[in-house]
Amino acid sequence: MDVAALARGVAAGDRRALARAITLVESARADHRLAAQDLLDRLGRRRRALRIGLSGTPGVGKSTFIEAFGLMLVGQGLRVAVLAVDPSSARTGGSILGDKTRMERLSRAPKAFIRPSPSGSELGGVARRTREAVALCEAAGFDIVLIETVGVGQSETLVAGMSDVFVLLLAPAGGDELQGVKRGIMEMADLILVNKADGDLRDAALRTCADYAGALRLLRRRPQDPDDFPKAMTVSASSGDGLPDAWAAIRELAEWRRKTGVLDAMRADQSRRWFEEEVRAGLLRRLTGDDTLRRAMDSLGARVAAGDLAPSAAAARMLARIEEGVRGRAEE
Ligand code: GDP
Repeated sequence: MDVAALARGVAAGDRRALARAITLVESARADHRLAAQDLLDRLGRRRRALRIGLSGTPGVGKSTFIEAFGLMLVGQGLRVAVLAVDPSSARTGGSILGDKTRMERLSRAPKAFIRPSPSGSELGGVARRTREAVALCEAAGFDIVLIETVGVGQSETLVAGMSDVFVLLLAPAGGDELQGVKRGIMEMADLILVNKADGDLRDAALRTCADYAGALRLLRRRPQDPDDFPKAMTVSASSGDGLPDAWAAIRELAEWRRKTGVLDAMRADQSRRWFEEEVRAGLLRRLTGDDTLRRAMDSLGARVAAGDLAPSAAAARMLARIEEGVRGRAEE
């Protein structure tokens, strides 16, 4: 594989080269991993995009929103990349977010790039591949990288942890109670957009938006952000109403964070966490990939289950075994 040529293609903003580069970082093959690392090293991290995380349960209108929002941005001359994180896709045997009919018009726009979710059930693997795909989109000169996720498991935390601004898309509530959005997810959101604020749903959307605005006020203030953030707004992805306002709010917050140095601090913190996660994931891989260690886990586990050995004592033994292995390897 000609990594140098691939790097040149990505840096020139060639979408086909970018697609091939992402396929490379998604591969688990050892030689591909080395090539991927080489590619990322060659590209460096000079270019930066605005990274927008977008989460919402199936049916709230994510595809419709991204299509309309993306086309609006592309219409302003911006280059927009859309990546999807869907850790559940392995279970369904195909990527939900990879549906080819989604965002048809945006996918045809020359300034846009849409990448369906890589399949895989292990969140750690999905996280690494998505982070590297984001880095590749930035290296390819995209102005905006939209990282989309359905709210399954930890995927929201993951996406929020690689975004500059995190947006939660909600649908109008039927009754008068909030839609059971978990507090932790509310706390991650910089902007709540209540979609479908049109036609018969408009009043319900306005009510839902007011409810969330109230709920957001009860959350802890973020002293580093402008006073009116996090905020809730209504949009209609179908009609396009509210999209310019949503974009203005995202830009305002991003610009504020950039000027105050918060964005740099966030990214530094995200990079550090990424590094730590990779180390942890590597250790776990070693644990599960090493036959001797796995057998030791199994036999100690069986003794714990039988009541022969206390769990914490068994864990201490297991950790000692792993340390011996690491020391042994270092002396080799
Ligand atoms: P996703 O599963 O979150 O990607 O949601 P989709 O974008 O596929 O939308 C789910 C359904 O909601 C579709 O039938 C859309 O036509 C509809 N929808 C999406 N946005 C709007 C909107 O702004 N207003 C209305 N009335 N319907 C919408």
